[in-house]
Amino acid sequence: MRPLPTLALALFSLVTGCAPKATRDFGRFLAKQPQNTFDVLLLDGQVIDGTGQKAFAADVLIRHDTIAFVGEVDPRLVQVQKTIDARGKVVSPGFIDTHAHGDPLGERGFLNFLAQGATTVTLGNDGAHPQNLQSWMQRVDQAGSEVNIALFVGHGTLRQEAGLNYDSLPTQAQLEKMGQLLREKLDLGCLGLSTGLEYLPGFYAPPYELEYLAKEVGAKGKLITSHVRNEDDQAIEASLNELLLQGKHCPVHVSHLKVVFGKGKARAEQILDQLEQARQRGIRVTADVYPYTASFTGISILFPEWALPPHSYEQVVATRRQELLEYLRNRVNKRNGPQATLLGTAPFAGKTLAQLAQEKQKPFEEVLLEDIGPGGASAAYFVMDEALQARFIVDPTVMICSDGGPDMRHPRGYGSFARILEAYVVRTKQLSLEEAIRKMTSLSARTMGLADRGEIAVGKKADLLVFDPAQVHETTTYENPFQLATGFETVLVNGKVSVENGRLVQKNGKVLRKF
Ligand SMILES: [Zn+2]
Repeated sequence: MRPLPTLALALFSLVTGCAPKATRDFGRFLAKQPQNTFDVLLLDGQVIDGTGQKAFAADVLIRHDTIAFVGEVDPRLVQVQKTIDARGKVVSPGFIDTHAHGDPLGERGFLNFLAQGATTVTLGNDGAHPQNLQSWMQRVDQAGSEVNIALFVGHGTLRQEAGLNYDSLPTQAQLEKMGQLLREKLDLGCLGLSTGLEYLPGFYAPPYELEYLAKEVGAKGKLITSHVRNEDDQAIEASLNELLLQGKHCPVHVSHLKVVFGKGKARAEQILDQLEQARQRGIRVTADVYPYTASFTGISILFPEWALPPHSYEQVVATRRQELLEYLRNRVNKRNGPQATLLGTAPFAGKTLAQLAQEKQKPFEEVLLEDIGPGGASAAYFVMDEALQARFIVDPTVMICSDGGPDMRHPRGYGSFARILEAYVVRTKQLSLEEAIRKMTSLSARTMGLADRGEIAVGKKADLLVFDPAQVHETTTYENPFQLATGFETVLVNGKVSVENGRLVQKNGKVLRKF
Protein backbone atom coordinates (compact mmCIF):
# COMPACT_ATOMS: atom_id res chain seq x y z
CA MET A 1 0.00 0.00 0.00
CA ARG A 2 1.25 3.45 -0.81
CA PRO A 3 0.88 6.09 1.90
CA LEU A 4 -2.31 8.07 1.47
CA PRO A 5 -3.23 11.52 2.65
CA THR A 6 -5.93 11.60 5.28
CA LEU A 7 -9.47 11.55 4.01
CA ALA A 8 -10.44 15.01 5.14
CA LEU A 9 -7.32 16.56 3.69
CA ALA A 10 -7.68 14.73 0.39
CA LEU A 11 -11.31 15.66 0.02
CA PHE A 12 -10.61 19.25 0.92
CA SER A 13 -7.99 19.62 -1.77
CA LEU A 14 -10.00 17.74 -4.41
CA VAL A 15 -13.34 19.32 -3.81
CA THR A 16 -11.76 22.74 -3.28
CA GLY A 17 -13.38 23.61 -0.01
CA CYS A 18 -16.58 22.09 1.34
CA ALA A 19 -19.56 24.23 0.48
CA PRO A 20 -22.40 24.38 3.00
CA LYS A 21 -25.51 22.33 2.32
CA ALA A 22 -27.60 23.76 -0.49
CA THR A 23 -30.59 25.47 1.05
CA ARG A 24 -33.84 24.21 -0.37
CA ASP A 25 -37.16 24.17 1.31
CA PHE A 26 -37.50 20.56 2.34
CA GLY A 27 -40.72 21.27 4.24
CA ARG A 28 -42.36 22.73 1.16
CA PHE A 29 -41.22 19.74 -0.93
CA LEU A 30 -42.60 17.31 1.63
CA ALA A 31 -45.95 19.07 1.84
CA LYS A 32 -46.48 18.37 -1.87
CA GLN A 33 -45.74 14.63 -1.49
CA PRO A 34 -48.60 12.14 -1.26
CA GLN A 35 -46.67 10.33 1.49
CA ASN A 36 -43.43 10.75 3.41
CA THR A 37 -42.00 7.29 2.57
CA PHE A 38 -38.88 6.98 0.46
CA ASP A 39 -36.49 4.19 -0.45
CA VAL A 40 -32.97 5.53 0.08
CA LEU A 41 -31.46 8.58 1.78
CA LEU A 42 -27.84 9.52 1.18
CA LEU A 43 -26.89 11.76 4.08
CA ASP A 44 -24.27 14.48 4.33
CA GLY A 45 -22.33 13.83 1.15
CA GLN A 46 -20.43 16.27 -1.03
CA VAL A 47 -22.56 16.16 -4.16
CA ILE A 48 -20.80 16.46 -7.50
CA ASP A 49 -23.82 16.54 -9.76
CA GLY A 50 -22.14 15.67 -13.07
CA THR A 51 -22.74 19.00 -14.81
CA GLY A 52 -19.29 20.33 -13.95
CA GLN A 53 -20.51 22.68 -11.23
CA LYS A 54 -18.58 22.72 -7.97
CA ALA A 55 -19.23 20.17 -5.25
CA PHE A 56 -21.85 21.15 -2.68
CA ALA A 57 -23.00 19.63 0.59
CA ALA A 58 -26.38 17.95 0.23
CA ASP A 59 -28.52 14.95 1.03
CA VAL A 60 -30.08 12.93 -1.77
CA LEU A 61 -33.49 11.32 -1.37
CA ILE A 62 -34.63 8.52 -3.68
CA ARG A 63 -38.05 7.06 -4.36
CA HIS A 64 -38.22 3.90 -6.51
CA ASP A 65 -35.53 4.38 -9.18
CA THR A 66 -35.63 8.17 -9.26
CA ILE A 67 -34.02 11.08 -7.42
CA ALA A 68 -36.82 12.83 -5.50
CA PHE A 69 -34.97 15.59 -3.66
CA VAL A 70 -31.46 17.11 -3.46
CA GLY A 71 -30.72 19.47 -0.59
CA GLU A 72 -31.01 19.48 3.17
CA VAL A 73 -33.28 16.66 4.34
CA ASP A 74 -34.63 16.48 7.86
CA PRO A 75 -34.42 12.71 8.52
CA ARG A 76 -36.97 12.97 11.32
CA LEU A 77 -39.68 13.93 8.84
CA VAL A 78 -39.32 10.97 6.47
CA GLN A 79 -39.54 7.21 6.56
CA VAL A 80 -36.79 5.57 4.50
CA GLN A 81 -35.96 1.93 3.84
CA LYS A 82 -32.25 2.61 3.90
CA THR A 83 -30.04 5.46 5.02
CA ILE A 84 -26.47 5.66 3.77
CA ASP A 85 -23.97 7.79 5.64
CA ALA A 86 -22.03 9.70 2.98
CA ARG A 87 -20.22 12.02 5.39
CA GLY A 88 -16.76 12.91 4.09
CA LYS A 89 -17.51 11.23 0.76
CA VAL A 90 -18.28 12.35 -2.74
CA VAL A 91 -21.72 11.48 -4.12
CA SER A 92 -21.73 11.50 -7.92
CA PRO A 93 -23.74 10.05 -10.78
CA GLY A 94 -22.61 6.59 -11.90
CA PHE A 95 -20.24 6.69 -14.85
CA ILE A 96 -21.47 6.02 -18.37
CA ASP A 97 -19.18 3.99 -20.58
CA THR A 98 -19.85 5.17 -24.12
CA HIS A 99 -17.95 2.30 -25.78
CA ALA A 100 -17.73 -1.12 -24.15
CA HIS A 101 -17.57 -4.76 -25.14
CA GLY A 102 -18.45 -8.16 -23.74
CA ASP A 103 -21.48 -10.18 -22.72
CA PRO A 104 -23.30 -9.51 -19.44
CA LEU A 105 -24.52 -13.12 -19.54
CA GLY A 106 -20.96 -14.48 -19.78
CA GLU A 107 -19.13 -16.25 -16.97
CA ARG A 108 -17.56 -13.14 -15.49
CA GLY A 109 -20.63 -10.92 -15.79
CA PHE A 110 -20.10 -7.15 -15.79
CA LEU A 111 -18.63 -6.66 -12.32
CA ASN A 112 -15.51 -5.28 -14.05
CA PHE A 113 -17.53 -2.19 -15.04
CA LEU A 114 -19.44 -1.76 -11.79
CA ALA A 115 -16.27 -2.01 -9.69
CA GLN A 116 -14.80 1.01 -11.51
CA GLY A 117 -17.93 3.09 -11.01
CA ALA A 118 -19.65 2.52 -14.35
CA THR A 119 -23.39 2.02 -13.96
CA THR A 120 -24.29 2.14 -17.68
CA VAL A 121 -22.35 0.76 -20.65
CA THR A 122 -23.07 0.73 -24.37
CA LEU A 123 -22.65 -2.45 -26.40
CA GLY A 124 -23.04 -3.28 -30.09
CA ASN A 125 -19.97 -1.20 -30.92
CA ASP A 126 -17.47 -1.29 -33.80
CA GLY A 127 -20.16 -2.48 -36.20
CA ALA A 128 -21.19 -5.68 -34.39
CA HIS A 129 -24.36 -6.24 -32.38
CA PRO A 130 -25.46 -9.49 -30.67
CA GLN A 131 -27.14 -12.06 -32.91
CA ASN A 132 -30.96 -12.13 -32.62
CA LEU A 133 -30.89 -8.73 -30.99
CA GLN A 134 -34.46 -8.65 -29.74
CA SER A 135 -34.32 -12.01 -27.96
CA TRP A 136 -30.84 -11.16 -26.64
CA MET A 137 -32.29 -8.02 -25.04
CA GLN A 138 -35.09 -10.08 -23.52
CA ARG A 139 -32.63 -12.64 -22.11
CA VAL A 140 -30.63 -9.84 -20.45
CA ASP A 141 -33.89 -8.36 -19.11
CA GLN A 142 -34.70 -11.69 -17.50
CA ALA A 143 -31.23 -12.46 -16.14
CA GLY A 144 -30.47 -8.91 -15.01
CA SER A 145 -27.08 -7.30 -15.24
CA GLU A 146 -24.60 -5.60 -12.92
CA VAL A 147 -24.93 -2.40 -14.97
CA ASN A 148 -27.44 -0.85 -17.34
CA ILE A 149 -26.91 -1.72 -20.97
CA ALA A 150 -27.71 0.49 -23.95
CA LEU A 151 -27.22 -0.86 -27.44
CA PHE A 152 -26.08 0.21 -30.86
CA VAL A 153 -27.12 -1.55 -34.04
CA GLY A 154 -23.90 -2.83 -35.63
CA HIS A 155 -23.45 -1.87 -39.28
CA GLY A 156 -21.31 -4.94 -40.07
CA THR A 157 -23.89 -7.31 -38.60
CA LEU A 158 -26.61 -5.42 -40.47
CA ARG A 159 -24.67 -5.93 -43.71
CA GLN A 160 -24.51 -9.67 -43.06
CA GLU A 161 -28.18 -9.82 -42.17
CA ALA A 162 -29.04 -8.01 -45.41
CA GLY A 163 -26.89 -10.45 -47.41
CA LEU A 164 -24.25 -7.90 -48.51
CA ASN A 165 -21.25 -9.39 -46.77
CA TYR A 166 -18.20 -8.31 -48.78
CA ASP A 167 -19.97 -6.49 -51.62
CA SER A 168 -18.55 -3.03 -52.13
CA LEU A 169 -21.28 -1.77 -54.47
CA PRO A 170 -24.64 -2.31 -52.80
CA THR A 171 -27.66 -1.99 -55.08
CA GLN A 172 -30.63 0.22 -54.32
CA ALA A 173 -32.59 -2.88 -53.28
CA GLN A 174 -29.81 -3.90 -50.88
CA LEU A 175 -29.65 -0.42 -49.41
CA GLU A 176 -33.40 -0.47 -48.85
CA LYS A 177 -33.16 -3.87 -47.18
CA MET A 178 -30.46 -2.57 -44.82
CA GLY A 179 -32.50 0.55 -44.15
CA GLN A 180 -35.54 -1.52 -43.25
CA LEU A 181 -33.55 -3.79 -40.90
CA LEU A 182 -31.94 -0.74 -39.33
CA ARG A 183 -35.29 0.94 -38.67
CA GLU A 184 -36.68 -2.22 -37.08
CA LYS A 185 -33.71 -2.49 -34.75
CA LEU A 186 -33.64 1.19 -33.84
CA ASP A 187 -37.30 0.79 -32.92
CA LEU A 188 -36.28 -1.82 -30.31
CA GLY A 189 -34.82 1.12 -28.40
CA CYS A 190 -31.22 1.17 -29.64
CA LEU A 191 -29.25 4.42 -29.36
CA GLY A 192 -28.15 4.48 -32.98
CA LEU A 193 -25.82 2.79 -35.45
CA SER A 194 -22.20 1.75 -34.85
CA THR A 195 -19.71 1.29 -37.66
CA GLY A 196 -16.36 -0.51 -37.64
CA LEU A 197 -14.83 0.46 -40.94
CA GLU A 198 -11.41 -1.01 -40.16
CA TYR A 199 -13.06 -4.41 -39.79
CA LEU A 200 -14.82 -6.83 -42.10
CA PRO A 201 -17.36 -6.47 -43.55
CA GLY A 202 -17.68 -2.75 -42.67
CA PHE A 203 -14.45 -2.15 -44.58
CA TYR A 204 -16.32 -2.71 -47.85
CA ALA A 205 -18.97 -0.05 -47.25
CA PRO A 206 -18.78 2.82 -49.78
CA PRO A 207 -19.60 6.41 -48.71
CA TYR A 208 -23.04 6.36 -50.38
CA GLU A 209 -24.07 3.37 -48.25
CA LEU A 210 -22.99 5.10 -45.04
CA GLU A 211 -24.75 8.29 -46.03
CA TYR A 212 -27.93 6.37 -46.88
CA LEU A 213 -27.92 4.80 -43.41
CA ALA A 214 -27.07 8.12 -41.73
CA LYS A 215 -30.31 9.56 -43.14
CA GLU A 216 -32.26 6.70 -41.54
CA VAL A 217 -30.49 7.27 -38.22
CA GLY A 218 -31.14 11.01 -38.39
CA ALA A 219 -34.83 10.49 -39.16
CA LYS A 220 -35.11 8.52 -35.90
CA GLY A 221 -33.29 11.23 -33.91
CA LYS A 222 -30.37 8.93 -33.09
CA LEU A 223 -26.60 8.93 -33.64
CA ILE A 224 -23.76 7.11 -35.40
CA THR A 225 -20.74 6.02 -33.37
CA SER A 226 -17.78 4.98 -35.48
CA HIS A 227 -14.53 3.10 -35.28
CA VAL A 228 -13.24 5.04 -38.26
CA ARG A 229 -11.64 3.51 -41.34
CA ASN A 230 -8.01 4.07 -40.45
CA GLU A 231 -6.58 5.54 -37.22
CA ASP A 232 -2.99 5.81 -38.47
CA ASP A 233 -1.23 9.16 -38.35
CA GLN A 234 -1.30 9.71 -42.11
CA ALA A 235 -4.92 8.58 -42.53
CA ILE A 236 -6.83 9.84 -39.50
CA GLU A 237 -7.96 13.20 -40.99
CA ALA A 238 -9.40 11.52 -44.08
CA SER A 239 -11.10 8.90 -41.91
CA LEU A 240 -12.69 11.60 -39.74
CA ASN A 241 -13.81 13.50 -42.84
CA GLU A 242 -15.59 10.37 -44.04
CA LEU A 243 -17.53 10.28 -40.76
CA LEU A 244 -18.19 14.04 -40.85
CA LEU A 245 -19.98 13.59 -44.20
CA GLN A 246 -22.52 11.41 -42.41
CA GLY A 247 -22.77 14.18 -39.84
CA LYS A 248 -24.89 16.19 -42.29
CA HIS A 249 -27.73 13.78 -41.50
CA CYS A 250 -27.31 12.81 -37.83
CA PRO A 251 -24.98 13.42 -34.87
CA VAL A 252 -21.71 11.50 -35.28
CA HIS A 253 -19.39 10.23 -32.56
CA VAL A 254 -15.76 9.15 -32.93
CA SER A 255 -15.15 5.95 -30.97
CA HIS A 256 -11.88 5.69 -29.01
CA LEU A 257 -10.18 8.71 -30.60
CA LYS A 258 -6.50 8.05 -31.27
CA VAL A 259 -3.64 8.76 -33.66
CA VAL A 260 -1.66 5.57 -34.20
CA PHE A 261 2.10 6.39 -34.47
CA GLY A 262 1.33 10.11 -34.00
CA LYS A 263 3.38 12.05 -31.47
CA GLY A 264 2.90 15.05 -29.23
CA LYS A 265 0.26 17.41 -27.90
CA ALA A 266 0.27 19.60 -31.03
CA ARG A 267 -0.78 16.65 -33.19
CA ALA A 268 -3.78 16.07 -30.90
CA GLU A 269 -4.67 19.73 -31.23
CA GLN A 270 -4.76 19.46 -35.03
CA ILE A 271 -7.33 16.69 -34.73
CA LEU A 272 -9.36 18.57 -32.11
CA ASP A 273 -9.32 21.61 -34.43
CA GLN A 274 -10.64 19.53 -37.29
CA LEU A 275 -13.58 18.45 -35.12
CA GLU A 276 -14.13 21.99 -33.81
CA GLN A 277 -14.23 23.40 -37.33
CA ALA A 278 -16.84 20.81 -38.26
CA ARG A 279 -18.92 21.86 -35.24
CA GLN A 280 -18.71 25.44 -36.44
CA ARG A 281 -20.13 24.28 -39.78
CA GLY A 282 -23.09 22.90 -37.83
CA ILE A 283 -22.04 19.25 -37.66
CA ARG A 284 -22.78 17.60 -34.35
CA VAL A 285 -19.59 15.64 -33.71
CA THR A 286 -18.26 14.26 -30.43
CA ALA A 287 -15.62 11.71 -29.39
CA ASP A 288 -14.57 9.40 -26.60
CA VAL A 289 -11.15 8.12 -25.52
CA TYR A 290 -9.71 5.47 -23.19
CA PRO A 291 -6.73 6.29 -20.97
CA TYR A 292 -4.10 3.81 -22.20
CA THR A 293 -1.44 3.92 -24.91
CA ALA A 294 -2.01 0.38 -26.14
CA SER A 295 -4.92 -0.60 -28.35
CA PHE A 296 -6.40 -4.09 -28.33
CA THR A 297 -7.98 -5.91 -31.24
CA GLY A 298 -7.83 -8.95 -33.54
CA ILE A 299 -4.45 -9.71 -35.12
CA SER A 300 -6.09 -9.35 -38.56
CA ILE A 301 -5.41 -5.63 -38.18
CA LEU A 302 -1.79 -6.44 -39.14
CA PHE A 303 -2.77 -8.27 -42.34
CA PRO A 304 -3.50 -6.68 -45.73
CA GLU A 305 -7.04 -6.65 -47.05
CA TRP A 306 -6.00 -9.05 -49.85
CA ALA A 307 -5.19 -11.74 -47.24
CA LEU A 308 -8.55 -11.47 -45.49
CA PRO A 309 -12.02 -12.80 -46.41
CA PRO A 310 -13.47 -13.08 -48.98
CA HIS A 311 -9.95 -14.00 -50.23
CA SER A 312 -8.70 -17.48 -49.39
CA TYR A 313 -5.85 -17.20 -46.88
CA GLU A 314 -4.39 -20.58 -47.93
CA GLN A 315 -4.32 -19.47 -51.52
CA VAL A 316 -2.65 -16.18 -50.61
CA VAL A 317 -0.01 -18.03 -48.58
CA ALA A 318 0.56 -20.43 -51.47
CA THR A 319 0.83 -17.76 -54.17
CA ARG A 320 1.97 -14.50 -52.49
CA ARG A 321 4.00 -15.76 -49.52
CA GLN A 322 7.02 -13.45 -49.94
CA GLU A 323 4.84 -10.41 -50.53
CA LEU A 324 2.80 -11.19 -47.42
CA LEU A 325 5.91 -11.73 -45.28
CA GLU A 326 7.30 -8.40 -46.41
CA TYR A 327 3.99 -6.65 -45.71
CA LEU A 328 3.78 -8.11 -42.20
CA ARG A 329 7.42 -7.25 -41.41
CA ASN A 330 6.99 -3.63 -42.50
CA ARG A 331 3.62 -3.19 -40.83
CA VAL A 332 4.76 -4.56 -37.45
CA ASN A 333 8.02 -2.62 -37.54
CA LYS A 334 6.09 0.55 -38.27
CA ARG A 335 3.89 -0.24 -35.26
CA ASN A 336 6.91 -0.12 -32.91
CA GLY A 337 8.14 -3.66 -33.66
CA PRO A 338 7.26 -7.18 -32.44
CA GLN A 339 8.03 -6.34 -28.80
CA ALA A 340 5.13 -3.84 -28.91
CA THR A 341 2.59 -6.55 -29.81
CA LEU A 342 1.40 -8.38 -26.67
CA LEU A 343 -0.70 -11.43 -27.49
CA GLY A 344 -3.89 -11.67 -25.49
CA THR A 345 -5.54 -14.96 -26.44
CA ALA A 346 -4.74 -18.66 -26.01
CA PRO A 347 -2.38 -20.37 -26.59
CA PHE A 348 0.05 -17.41 -26.66
CA ALA A 349 -1.59 -15.07 -24.11
CA GLY A 350 0.89 -12.96 -22.19
CA LYS A 351 3.75 -13.30 -24.69
CA THR A 352 4.95 -10.59 -27.02
CA LEU A 353 5.35 -11.39 -30.69
CA ALA A 354 9.12 -10.89 -30.20
CA GLN A 355 9.21 -13.50 -27.40
CA LEU A 356 7.20 -15.94 -29.45
CA ALA A 357 9.52 -15.48 -32.43
CA GLN A 358 12.51 -16.16 -30.21
CA GLU A 359 10.87 -19.27 -28.77
CA LYS A 360 10.07 -20.60 -32.21
CA GLN A 361 13.45 -19.51 -33.56
CA LYS A 362 12.12 -17.84 -36.66
CA PRO A 363 11.37 -14.29 -37.81
CA PHE A 364 8.23 -12.77 -36.27
CA GLU A 365 6.60 -12.34 -39.68
CA GLU A 366 6.83 -16.12 -40.22
CA VAL A 367 5.23 -16.69 -36.81
CA LEU A 368 2.38 -14.41 -37.85
CA LEU A 369 1.97 -16.08 -41.23
CA GLU A 370 2.38 -19.72 -40.14
CA ASP A 371 1.58 -20.06 -36.44
CA ILE A 372 -1.08 -17.42 -35.87
CA GLY A 373 -2.77 -16.35 -39.11
CA PRO A 374 -5.24 -13.45 -39.47
CA GLY A 375 -7.95 -15.08 -37.35
CA GLY A 376 -5.67 -16.68 -34.78
CA ALA A 377 -5.32 -14.18 -31.96
CA SER A 378 -6.13 -10.83 -30.42
CA ALA A 379 -3.41 -8.62 -29.01
CA ALA A 380 -2.52 -5.38 -27.29
CA TYR A 381 -0.49 -3.02 -29.50
CA PHE A 382 1.62 -0.30 -27.90
CA VAL A 383 1.15 2.21 -30.71
CA MET A 384 0.01 5.43 -29.04
CA ASP A 385 1.84 8.42 -27.59
CA GLU A 386 1.11 9.39 -23.99
CA ALA A 387 1.32 13.18 -24.52
CA LEU A 388 -0.92 13.05 -27.58
CA GLN A 389 -3.58 10.87 -25.97
CA ALA A 390 -3.47 12.88 -22.71
CA ARG A 391 -4.44 15.99 -24.68
CA PHE A 392 -7.55 14.19 -25.92
CA ILE A 393 -8.34 13.00 -22.40
CA VAL A 394 -8.35 16.49 -20.88
CA ASP A 395 -10.24 18.17 -23.72
CA PRO A 396 -13.65 19.39 -22.54
CA THR A 397 -15.41 18.01 -25.63
CA VAL A 398 -14.09 14.47 -25.21
CA MET A 399 -15.72 11.90 -22.93
CA ILE A 400 -14.24 8.79 -21.37
CA CYS A 401 -14.88 5.20 -22.46
CA SER A 402 -13.23 1.89 -21.61
CA ASP A 403 -13.44 0.11 -25.00
CA GLY A 404 -12.98 -2.87 -22.68
CA GLY A 405 -14.77 -5.96 -21.54
CA PRO A 406 -14.59 -8.55 -18.78
CA ASP A 407 -12.67 -11.11 -20.86
CA MET A 408 -10.25 -8.79 -22.66
CA ARG A 409 -6.58 -9.09 -21.75
CA HIS A 410 -6.12 -5.33 -21.57
CA PRO A 411 -6.40 -3.29 -18.36
CA ARG A 412 -8.88 -0.86 -19.91
CA GLY A 413 -11.79 -3.24 -19.26
CA TYR A 414 -11.20 -3.13 -15.50
CA GLY A 415 -9.42 0.14 -14.90
CA SER A 416 -10.35 3.02 -17.24
CA PHE A 417 -12.60 5.12 -14.97
CA ALA A 418 -10.57 4.45 -11.83
CA ARG A 419 -7.46 5.41 -13.78
CA ILE A 420 -8.94 8.78 -14.79
CA LEU A 421 -9.58 9.63 -11.12
CA GLU A 422 -6.31 8.19 -9.85
CA ALA A 423 -3.93 9.43 -12.53
CA TYR A 424 -5.59 12.55 -13.98
CA VAL A 425 -7.35 13.99 -10.91
CA VAL A 426 -5.55 12.85 -7.74
CA ARG A 427 -1.97 12.30 -8.92
CA THR A 428 -1.33 14.84 -11.69
CA LYS A 429 -4.31 17.19 -11.26
CA GLN A 430 -4.73 17.60 -15.02
CA LEU A 431 -8.48 17.49 -14.43
CA SER A 432 -10.53 18.80 -11.54
CA LEU A 433 -12.72 16.17 -9.91
CA GLU A 434 -15.86 17.96 -11.07
CA GLU A 435 -14.64 18.11 -14.68
CA ALA A 436 -13.49 14.48 -14.72
CA ILE A 437 -16.89 13.40 -13.43
CA ARG A 438 -18.68 15.56 -16.01
CA LYS A 439 -16.70 13.81 -18.77
CA MET A 440 -17.85 10.43 -17.44
CA THR A 441 -21.50 11.32 -16.72
CA SER A 442 -23.58 14.22 -18.10
CA LEU A 443 -21.48 14.72 -21.23
CA SER A 444 -21.79 11.03 -22.04
CA ALA A 445 -25.51 10.88 -21.21
CA ARG A 446 -26.35 13.90 -23.36
CA THR A 447 -24.26 12.64 -26.26
CA MET A 448 -25.73 9.14 -26.21
CA GLY A 449 -29.31 10.39 -25.81
CA LEU A 450 -29.75 9.03 -22.28
CA ALA A 451 -31.54 12.15 -21.11
CA ASP A 452 -32.65 10.81 -17.73
CA ARG A 453 -29.18 9.76 -16.52
CA GLY A 454 -25.74 11.19 -15.82
CA GLU A 455 -26.81 13.93 -13.41
CA ILE A 456 -27.82 14.30 -9.80
CA ALA A 457 -31.05 16.28 -10.12
CA VAL A 458 -34.69 15.78 -9.27
CA GLY A 459 -36.35 13.42 -11.73
CA LYS A 460 -33.14 11.75 -12.93
CA LYS A 461 -32.60 8.03 -12.47
CA ALA A 462 -30.71 7.20 -9.29
CA ASP A 463 -27.49 5.64 -10.61
CA LEU A 464 -25.13 6.90 -7.89
CA LEU A 465 -21.64 6.44 -6.46
CA VAL A 466 -20.42 7.14 -2.93
CA PHE A 467 -16.64 7.25 -2.71
CA ASP A 468 -13.47 8.90 -1.50
CA PRO A 469 -11.46 9.86 -4.61
CA ALA A 470 -8.17 9.28 -2.80
CA GLN A 471 -9.16 5.65 -2.22
CA VAL A 472 -9.97 4.84 -5.84
CA HIS A 473 -7.38 2.54 -7.38
CA GLU A 474 -6.84 0.73 -10.63
CA THR A 475 -5.34 -2.65 -9.75
CA THR A 476 -5.34 -4.21 -13.22
CA THR A 477 -2.19 -4.58 -15.33
CA TYR A 478 -1.28 -5.98 -18.76
CA GLU A 479 0.13 -9.04 -16.99
CA ASN A 480 -2.89 -9.45 -14.68
CA PRO A 481 -5.75 -7.76 -16.47
CA PHE A 482 -8.70 -9.31 -14.61
CA GLN A 483 -8.29 -7.35 -11.34
CA LEU A 484 -11.24 -5.30 -10.14
CA ALA A 485 -10.77 -1.61 -9.36
CA THR A 486 -11.27 -0.60 -5.73
CA GLY A 487 -12.65 2.41 -3.88
CA PHE A 488 -16.29 2.62 -4.96
CA GLU A 489 -17.72 1.59 -1.62
CA THR A 490 -21.39 2.15 -2.37
CA VAL A 491 -22.96 2.00 -5.81
CA LEU A 492 -26.65 2.40 -6.56
CA VAL A 493 -28.14 1.33 -9.87
CA ASN A 494 -31.75 2.30 -10.65
CA GLY A 495 -32.26 3.43 -7.06
CA LYS A 496 -31.15 0.16 -5.48
CA VAL A 497 -27.93 -0.67 -3.68
CA SER A 498 -25.75 -2.80 -5.97
CA VAL A 499 -22.44 -2.46 -4.14
CA GLU A 500 -22.09 -2.08 -0.38
CA ASN A 501 -18.75 -1.90 1.45
CA GLY A 502 -17.12 -2.51 -1.91
CA ARG A 503 -18.96 -5.81 -2.51
CA LEU A 504 -21.66 -6.74 -5.02
CA VAL A 505 -24.91 -7.32 -3.16
CA GLN A 506 -27.46 -7.29 -6.00
CA LYS A 507 -27.68 -6.92 -9.77
CA ASN A 508 -29.95 -3.97 -10.54
CA GLY A 509 -28.98 -3.12 -14.11
CA LYS A 510 -31.34 -3.48 -17.05
CA VAL A 511 -31.48 -2.97 -20.78
CA LEU A 512 -32.14 0.70 -21.50
CA ARG A 513 -34.43 1.47 -24.39
CA LYS A 514 -34.55 4.84 -26.08
CA PHE A 515 -37.56 5.71 -28.22
ZN1 LIG B 1 -13.14 -0.07 -31.96
